[in-house]
This record gives sequence, C-alpha cells and structure tokens, in this order.
Amino acid sequence: MSSSDIKNFGILGYPVGHSLSPQMYTAAFKAAGFPNYNYILLPVQAGKLFFAVEGIKSLEFRGVNVTIPHKSTIMKYLDAIDADAMVIGAVNTVVNDGGMLTGYNTDVVGFLAALSEANFLPEDCHAVVLGAGGAARAILWGLCKRRAEYITIGARNPQKAQALANDFLSQGQVSGYDWLTDEFKELLQTADIVINTTPLGMFPHVDDMPPVDLKLLPEGALVYDIIYNPVETKFLRTAKELGFPTLDGLSMLLLQGREAYRLYTGELPDLKVMRRAVERELQSK
Ligand code: NAP
Repeated sequence: MSSSDIKNFGILGYPVGHSLSPQMYTAAFKAAGFPNYNYILLPVQAGKLFFAVEGIKSLEFRGVNVTIPHKSTIMKYLDAIDADAMVIGAVNTVVNDGGMLTGYNTDVVGFLAALSEANFLPEDCHAVVLGAGGAARAILWGLCKRRAEYITIGARNPQKAQALANDFLSQGQVSGYDWLTDEFKELLQTADIVINTTPLGMFPHVDDMPPVDLKLLPEGALVYDIIYNPVETKFLRTAKELGFPTLDGLSMLLLQGREAYRLYTGELPDLKVMRRAVERELQSK
C-alpha cells in the first residue's frame, strides 16, 4: 500500500462524540472499495481552531466536516469559500487540495434534494420556517434559490426572525414573526410546507415540539422536521395523526453527506449503505 492510497477525513467540532459522521462515511468508503480511507472524530475547542486548520494541512487530511461551534469561525482560515457557504455564512465541509482549503455548505444541496425525493416542488410555494438559527439560514437560501413565492419565519425571538428575513429580502418575499402572534397563526393557514429547524423535540427532549397549532395548516401541507434523532419527532407524529404528509430529517442528513462525499472523492456514495449505517448507530444510542 502506498501512502497515496491512504486518505484521512474527520468531523471537526466540539463536542463531536454524538456525531453519526464516522459511521456514515466509513461505511460508504468501505462499500466503494476505499478501505484505506480513515474517518475520525476531531474534537477541537474554541480558541484552538487555527492550529487545527494548520493540522489539516500538515497532516494532509483530504477533508473535514465541520460542526458547532466552528461553522462560521473557520471561514477566515480557509483559502476559498463556495458561493452557497458565503451566502449562508457557514461552512460544514472543507476540502484540501494539496494544501489549498475550500469551504462548502452542503446543507442547501441536502435540503433541496430531500424535498425533491419527497416530490415537493418549492417553486411558487408559501414556506413557513420555524427557528432562525444556522440551519434556518441554509434552508432559507435553498428556498430562495428555488424561487419560493413567500417565506414566513416564525421564532420565539421575533428580532432574530426579522433580522434573518432582512438578510434575504433581496432574494424574495421573506418576513419574520413571533410564532405566538395571531399574525403568524393566520399565515400558517396558507402554508404549503412548514419546516422545523429548531432543536425542539431532539433527543433527549423528545416530548417537546414547536408551539405551533398544526390544525391551522391547510389540507395536504407538508410537515417537515429536520431533526433526525429521533427520526420521528413529536412534531411529525402529531402531524401524521392529523393526516398531513411528513418528512423527517434523516434524508437531509444523508443527502448533505452524499454531497460532501462527492466533493471529497469525485464520486457518489451508496446512499443505502450510508442510511443503514446511520440507522444502526441511532438505534444503538
Ligand atoms: P442553531 O443555530 O442553534 O439555531 C436553533 C434555532 O432554534 C434558533 O432560532 C433558536 O432560537 C431556536 N431554539 C433553540 N432552542 C429553542 C427553544 N427551546 N425554544 C424555541 N426555540 C429554540 O441550531 P442549528 O444549527 O440551526 O440546528 C437546529 C436543528 O437542526 C438541530 O436540531 C440540528 O440537529 C438540526 N439540523 C439537522 C440537519 C440535517 O441534516 N437533518 C442539518 C443541520 C441542522 P434562539 O436564537 O432564540 O436561541
């Protein structure tokens, strides 16, 4: 085996112990005949990021996935940033081409591919996004790129919702609200899709859900939760019981991972293998 057969990858963040990425990528690499591709946890505390980025170069890592708290901070240490990541202001994938580091955000591709798999066309829709954090920003950009007609952001903090909406005003009709107001409740009644981007309902707080009355939604509206642990959240269970079609967060996780894998290797992974690895890991947690 020559050293060029060995390629190293990792998930860089803090903490990273909960990450499903090592299992997901390792399974895909093995299935594709890359047994010498190694994927490891890279716990890096805030304040040590610069040294970690230098380490990626000197240790010749081919790529790293990036998670909280480094998604925005890492941008200043990279040589180039892809257009989606620049708009979103966050990087979740870094590719190392001989010491030249490029940052990408694969959440947009993952989100749009998940909608497409669910046969939902965002063009001309009214989308309601719950939450105004990093994932909401990526999703908003995806919806704007696909020319959603109107986007309503609902959050517990209306200032944050409005600030996020303002950032995208040049891209489309976007507005932000306190999700407890009558104005917001009225907008729910014309939604084609409602997307939870908050962590409400995520393990271990599985009895939580966003304080949104799903009964207000019109018939047939798609209820989407980007949380993937658990795969079926209380939000989705409630929607199903009311007869709405639903979409869970697993497909976005896998499809953003597929895009990162493509950037690393130039090839597409076996998605079924990735899904099995993630499901196995979720069951064992
Ligand atoms: P983030 O940047 O911290 O944003 C979280 C948002 O949720 C903020 O608007 C925050 O409001 C709100 N929030 C948090 N706790 C809340 C609570 N108790 N009540 C009401 N609102 C609350 O996090 P993120 O990176 O966007 O991630 C959010 C979720 O998306 C996580 O569950 C993550 O696992 C999931 N995610 C999934 C995928 C996927 O591939 N499926 C990809 C990315 C993220 P404040 O600003 O007021 O705190």
